[in-house]
Amino acid sequence: GDFPIETDTLVIGAGPGGYVAAIRAAQLGQKVTVVEKGTVGGVCLNVGCIPSKALIAAGHRFHEAKHSEDMGITAENVKLDFSKVQAFKSSVVNKLTGGVSGLLKGNKIEVVSGEAYFVDENNVRVMTETSAQTYTFKNAIIATGSTPIELPTFKYSKRVINSTGALSLEEVPASLVVIGGGVIGIELGGAYANMGTKLTILEGTEDILSGGYEKQMTALVKKNLKKHGAEIVTKALAKGVEETENGVVVTYEVNGQESKIEADYVLVTVGRRPNTDELGLEQVGIKLTERGLIEIDKQCRTNVKNIYAIGDVVSGPQLAHKASYEGKIAAEVIAGEASEIDYLGIPAVVFSEPELATVGHTEQSAKEEGLDAKASKFPFAANGRALSLNNTDGFMKLITRKEDGLVIGAQIAGPSASDMIAELGLAIEAGMTAEDIAMTIHAHPSLGEITMEAAEVALGMPIHIV
Ligand code: FAD
Repeated sequence: GDFPIETDTLVIGAGPGGYVAAIRAAQLGQKVTVVEKGTVGGVCLNVGCIPSKALIAAGHRFHEAKHSEDMGITAENVKLDFSKVQAFKSSVVNKLTGGVSGLLKGNKIEVVSGEAYFVDENNVRVMTETSAQTYTFKNAIIATGSTPIELPTFKYSKRVINSTGALSLEEVPASLVVIGGGVIGIELGGAYANMGTKLTILEGTEDILSGGYEKQMTALVKKNLKKHGAEIVTKALAKGVEETENGVVVTYEVNGQESKIEADYVLVTVGRRPNTDELGLEQVGIKLTERGLIEIDKQCRTNVKNIYAIGDVVSGPQLAHKASYEGKIAAEVIAGEASEIDYLGIPAVVFSEPELATVGHTEQSAKEEGLDAKASKFPFAANGRALSLNNTDGFMKLITRKEDGLVIGAQIAGPSASDMIAELGLAIEAGMTAEDIAMTIHAHPSLGEITMEAAEVALGMPIHIV
């Protein structure tokens, strides 16, 4: 046997959940060890949020460069060198993962390479190909994230790819079929459509992004994708795939009618499953839900009192900022603080065109909770900044409580929705009313004025619409 190494807080996984938890725990005086089997930064930095946004930005620039005729700009010979796009993407990823490694080191956190496996409620074994070491901990935080689901009828291969494959292609596909019109499928499909790929999206339900976004919002994304030549097939059941020499033939069914479609690649984005099956959780009796998610309380504690879990391995939206938020809570609770999770102000964003963002209640969810709510809408087309950017497709919908104007939610479809949603999250967290927002002076001309005007709509007195 080896000699166990002792630590206060052991974090398993160094994604946006784990590395943030580790830093906060160290800041609060804990001796922290992080175990990571892959690369620091997890899915988000290496094969998720960050590389996808780099490709989306590149696709957007390319498309804009070619199509700014409305502003009097005609460009010829605009070229895209995809190997350089990929090099750009990798350089962004490397800067950020390098930054995180530096932050962990700077906070005196020990980072151990290897795969952690629970032995009992105070020990894990960390395995590499050549070694095994036991770590004894007072508290542990499980932040092992999630993995793309593989459909039995679409086994991953060179041409049947998941999001990770789609982020590391060596060429812009001439054609791409995306199975699953959720956030990841729409974002990655959209990036390639901007780079010239003929895109087909096969979505099983009635609408793309139907999980959390209203029809009026998804309609704008669909319109844009179609403008790029994309085809969106809803209520489509993807049945199977045949690989040919240079591509794939995908079979799908709509209303009992079978069709086939040829493409260079098929990207399967039908969801992600939690990484909870190879951790030895049964050794410590940690409770899982039917879907394999770890059950936690409001302090991120599992049923084993010194073991916590955060991020994609627990229930709730699979979002990086949600993982980080829970990471801070878990670290604070371990350090003896009375922190608790409160998802009231958690935003969600789709980096589509236009961007979609939501925070707090929708009209629908407010109704379902029996709240007497009011929805106040303001269009981007009535905003000077949006007009001068030649980007007027979209709207903001502010949700307030009727009795007192308390801001309880907001949805935005439009350019920079991802940044604009922050002000609404703050309003919700701070308990502000529509009047508070309306009274706040917003710079002119800016997209932020849309928020002020939506608040004025709530008060019945918008200046720039009647
Ligand atoms: P992860 O990031 O999955 O990290 C878990 C880490 O644990 C991994 O590094 C893994 O190697 C390690 N690990 C697993 N098992 C073990 C073990 N036994 N021992 C040691 N280490 C282990 N979210 C957003 O908020 N915004 C976005 O724009 C966004 N875009 C996305 C785009 C794509 C293409 C994808 C796939 C995801 C995107 N997400 C986005 C989701 C986001 O990436 C996840 O919600 C987030 O990474 C979850 O963080 P986490 O810390 O829970 O887990």
